[in-house]
Amino acid sequence: MKIERAELIKKLSLSDTVFAFDLASKTIARKAKPGQFIQIRIFDSFDPFLRRPFSFASVLGDRFRIVFRVRGKGTKILSQCHSGQYLDILGPLGKPIAQLQNQRLVLIGGGVGIAPLFFLAQRLGPSNHLTLLLGAKNRKELIMLKDFKNLTKNIALTTEDGSFGKKGKVTDLLRNSEFGIRDSGLKIFACGPWPMLRAIQKRFGSIPVYGFLEERMGCGTGICFCCAVKKKDGGYLRVCQEGPVVNLSQVEI
Ligand SMILES: Cc1cc2nc3c(=O)[nH]c(=O)nc-3n(C[C@H](O)[C@H](O)[C@H](O)COP(=O)(O)OP(=O)(O)OC[C@H]3O[C@@H](n4cnc5c(N)ncnc54)[C@H](O)[C@@H]3O)c2cc1C
Repeated sequence: MKIERAELIKKLSLSDTVFAFDLASKTIARKAKPGQFIQIRIFDSFDPFLRRPFSFASVLGDRFRIVFRVRGKGTKILSQCHSGQYLDILGPLGKPIAQLQNQRLVLIGGGVGIAPLFFLAQRLGPSNHLTLLLGAKNRKELIMLKDFKNLTKNIALTTEDGSFGKKGKVTDLLRNSEFGIRDSGLKIFACGPWPMLRAIQKRFGSIPVYGFLEERMGCGTGICFCCAVKKKDGGYLRVCQEGPVVNLSQVEI
């Protein structure tokens, strides 16, 4: 893990509040693995003081992409960066997802949580069988669809307003065996808001669901315990060290 200055090569606006940044850093791009993230220093002054964490959405050669939604001060400032600017980045951080082969993987993404699943699909798709369940509020928020469709045809989509795919929430699809959802022989990865993660964990019970946890984070390197979540068998787990992708049955969510 290192601090790097990475050039913002391309900035895309994916919806009114969601942006994609392509950043150039040989060191980070070559080390990045699915499940990992970076911490970006937003401003050269002390406000916002803490770096903000973002997952890798894809990696191509010496470049990597992050996709983020503007939520508060930090992401608002970040969204105003322009191509050619250099960003101060710490990473890659977090525990990578294990390399898997010949498995049936179901990837479930909600909203901007769709993005980190693309990197997972990119790396694990060729050696596993993928099913993707992706949902968002409306068609515009259903980001990176073209990219996903280049990886697999096995995709089911939902929008809450019915403007694309099936009307409803992505978790509604879990009742339907038509999408290859059954109760054994699957590995499930999910990224999205907490209520979505809770609903998925509840649906699958005994099957491990690996969720990308987006807890508020301080140092990102395991020292401050700011991102600790309670484990069911006692003690805490640091999202930045033991996560961010964790077996949801082992934590209080
Ligand atoms: C490991 C990890 C990876 C992440 N990857 C992505 C990503 O790829 N794309 C993306 O859009 N976001 C991602 N997030 C969430 C992102 O870091 C927060 O949205 C961001 O830090 C908010 O900063 P802000 O200054 O704009 O908001 P703040 O002003 O700090 O807060 C504004 C609002 O955002 C909420 N918020 C703050 N921090 C988080 C957080 N960590 N998770 C969820 N909500 C938060 C607050 O509760 C508040 O309602 C990730 C978080 C973690 C921990």
